[in-house]
This record gives sequence, structure tokens and C-alpha cells, in this order.
Amino acid sequence: MWTNFAGDQTCFPSKFARPATVDEVSRLVTEAASRGDTVRVVGAGHSFGGNVLTDGTLISLDELSGLHHADPATGLVRIGAGTRLHELNRLLDAHGLAMPNLGDINVQSAAGAISTATHGTGRKLGNLATTVESIELVKADGSVMELSTGDELRAARVSVGALGVITAYTLRTVPSFRLHEERRKMPLTRVLSELDDHVDGNDHFQFFAFPHTRDVLAKSLNRSGEPANPPGRAAEYVNDMLVENRALDAVSKVGRRWPKQIPRLNRTMTALASSSSRVDVSHRVFSSPRQVRFTESEWALPRAACVEVVRAIQAEIDRQGLAVNFPLEVRFVAADEASLLSPSFGRETAYVAVHMYEGMPWRPYLEAVQRIATEHGGRPHWGKRHSLDAATLAGRYPEWETFQTIRRAYDPDGVFANNHIRRIFGA
Ligand SMILES: Cc1cc2nc3c(=O)[nH]c(=O)nc-3n(C[C@H](O)[C@H](O)[C@H](O)COP(=O)(O)OP(=O)(O)OC[C@H]3O[C@@H](n4cnc5c(N)ncnc54)[C@H](O)[C@@H]3O)c2cc1C
Repeated sequence: MWTNFAGDQTCFPSKFARPATVDEVSRLVTEAASRGDTVRVVGAGHSFGGNVLTDGTLISLDELSGLHHADPATGLVRIGAGTRLHELNRLLDAHGLAMPNLGDINVQSAAGAISTATHGTGRKLGNLATTVESIELVKADGSVMELSTGDELRAARVSVGALGVITAYTLRTVPSFRLHEERRKMPLTRVLSELDDHVDGNDHFQFFAFPHTRDVLAKSLNRSGEPANPPGRAAEYVNDMLVENRALDAVSKVGRRWPKQIPRLNRTMTALASSSSRVDVSHRVFSSPRQVRFTESEWALPRAACVEVVRAIQAEIDRQGLAVNFPLEVRFVAADEASLLSPSFGRETAYVAVHMYEGMPWRPYLEAVQRIATEHGGRPHWGKRHSLDAATLAGRYPEWETFQTIRRAYDPDGVFANNHIRRIFGA
């Protein structure tokens, strides 16, 4: 049995394989196709939706990982697609290189993160797929392609595993750098009224807005020439593991047992939050451990709609009396056209994420947020929960048909499909 990180997506693949060469991947795909079987790939299983699920062949690329080549002069690096991001950071560090931006955690595989357009925050920075210069991909007929230009590359960067098995990437990285992090508690009304100043005035800006409270936790990161002053391993453990993870988990358990107490618990959590600052190597600042289990939706919205959407979600929580113990997380991503299915395709984007603790009813909240996001032309994160189908998604992506033409050519018989892929991309 296979289960995702959140523990709410489960499947029973007929075969589980960990190929160590591209030839083995190719053989696995052709054998499965000749049996009429389907193939899905799993990275770290950190997606929230059903995109990994299969009763056919499930492939893990954990053995196809590591750094093949790094050129510090150009920043170009060649990696195995199964490389976990924390491993990638360590390998790049050794060459004085770094990813220009990262998300909240670092345990995903490169291919899993890139294929769903995983992103961090920073108005001038695109999602992780924008760093991809070239892709090695095994198609449904077992042939191995190197995609380095044109629409085929733009289709494969963000393809949710629907075009084939990605076995290697060439990424464009940057010289390693340090970040100064500042965390502050601020009134929501102030953050929203000054939003453009915060987003435009920092390399990376994001905020967490706790429902049922008036305050947000704002986080800004800026490149720094100062020496690193990390909190120290013990302090970091206490902060990340005991305070952020264990305290949140304990409070969430109380909230799940007594949902009426959630507004009070959220007010206590924000009251206890304190300001802090530090300087450290970029990847240590971007990501932190997450051990609390939850489910999540995230919507890519036109940046100009951000304030209205945040206000509308808060109002809907109050109107429906929803008990929501996790904060809304709001981040900003540059417009790009590097991927046909980039959720930030063609527009500066505000991402609004909403979460629900494991075992709590998530549907009314996530569905309400989907309705609000839809009113503003929101595009769902490809690795998170939503219930849109191909017909609806087609209207939100200007180059949808180009992707579909390439998908039909690469996988005419749906070898890489499952129920989720058929829903979001069509049969
Ligand atoms: C705690 C937590 C924090 C998160 N934080 C962020 C964040 O800050 N920003 C953000 O944008 N997202 C975030 N996410 C979402 C996460 O980055 C994505 O869901 C990502 O896809 C997970 O990577 P993975 O390796 O676990 O991929 P999986 O979930 O295993 O797979 C994701 C998709 O990629 C496909 N795939 C994987 N490998 C290959 C391959 N080699 N070839 C072809 N297809 C492949 C899979 O079939 C699947 O469709 C978070 C998720 C969690 C659970």
C-alpha cells in the first residue's frame, strides 16, 4: 500500500519499482504499456491530491538522484530527477551555488516539486520550473528524449507526470547567497493596506493570517552581506520542532476536539508569537521542518486580487462559522511563460493557501475558498486539493491546447493517466 505525506491518499500499485538507470525506466514503461497497465511516478509523496495514485506500476526515482555535473561559471547543473531538494541544496553548496528561491519545505524530489510548479515567494522570482533549462524524459513508447527548447520543453516543465517519466534536469542556479530573515507580528488591516510596499520592497515577502484574529505574522527575506548568525542547532530544534511543530500540533488537537475553542486558540497562538531575525545561508532560511499533518488547497490569483480574496475568505469563515485553526498563507510569484501550465502564466501572482488539520472536516472550507478563487480567475496549485476539471481549467490557461496536443503525441494511449489526471487533463 502506498500513502501520501498527509495520510489521506492511498493506493495499491500492482508493481512498485525503483529503477537505477534510464534504460530500466524505459523497460518498465514499455512492459507496463504492453500489459495494458498504467504508470505513475512518486517523488516524496507530498502532494495533497490524487495525482500519484495508481493500481498499475508505481515508480520511485530515489535511485536516479544526485548531481551529475555542475558548472559554477554558468550556474548550470545536471541532476537526477529523484534528487531530494535538501540533498540538492547540500550538493549545490559544495560548488558555491544555490537555487534562487525555494518553498517552505525541502523534502520533495526535484521532479515532484518542479512538475507541480512548486514555488516560494518573491515578486521577481518565478516558480521552481522556471529554473529548468532542459529535461530528460521517457515517453510512453519507452523512447528517451532530451527537451531543451520550444513548446515541448514548456509543456514538460509543469506536466504533473502526464507526459512521461522525467529522469534528469539541467537547472540554472545562482551563486550561493545569505538571507536576512525578519518575522514580525502586524495587524492584518495594515499589511493589506500597505501590501504593495511590502511585496515590492523585499526580495521575498509572505504573511500568515490566522482566522478569527486581527494579526498576521509577516516574514520578509532580503539578501544580506552580513555573516551568518543562525540560532544554533539546539535553539533551532526548540523553535522549529518543539514550538512550531509540536505546539501547533497540540493546539490543533485541542481545536479538533473542541472546535468552538478555535477562535480563542488562534488568538492565543498569535499573542504568543514574537518577532525574530537572523542571517543564514539561503536554503536554511527558506525551508523548515513540517511534521503536523494537514490537507491544503492553494490558488494562484492575479496579484491585484489578493486583498479582496483574503478579505472574502475571512468573511466567509465568519459567515459560515467555520472552525479554522491554520493560518492563510499568502505569497507572491513573478509572471512567467516558461511553462504552458504555470499557474502564474502571464500574470504577476499572489498565491493564497488554506489548510485544515488532519481528521477535521475540510470540504466546506476548501470548497468555499475554491468558489472565491474561481470568481477571481484563480488557478489551482497542481499538487494540492481542488475539484476543477479539464473543461474548466482549459479556460484558465491560454496555451492549454498546445499542452494537450503534445500530451496526445507523447502518450496517445494514456499510459501515464490515472483518475486524477483524466479529470484535470481529460481522457
Ligand atoms: C508540508 C508541505 C509543505 C509544502 N510546501 C510547499 C511550498 O512551500 N510551495 C509549494 O508550491 N508547494 C508546497 N507543497 C506542495 C509540494 O511541493 C508539491 O505537492 C510537490 O509536488 C511535492 O513533491 P513530491 O516530490 O512529494 O512529489 P509527489 O507528490 O510525489 O509527486 C507530485 C507529482 O509529480 C509527479 N512526478 C514526481 N516525480 C516525477 C518524475 N520523475 N517524472 C514525472 N512525474 C513525476 C507525480 O506523478 C505527481 O503527479 C508542500 C507540501 C507539503 C506536504
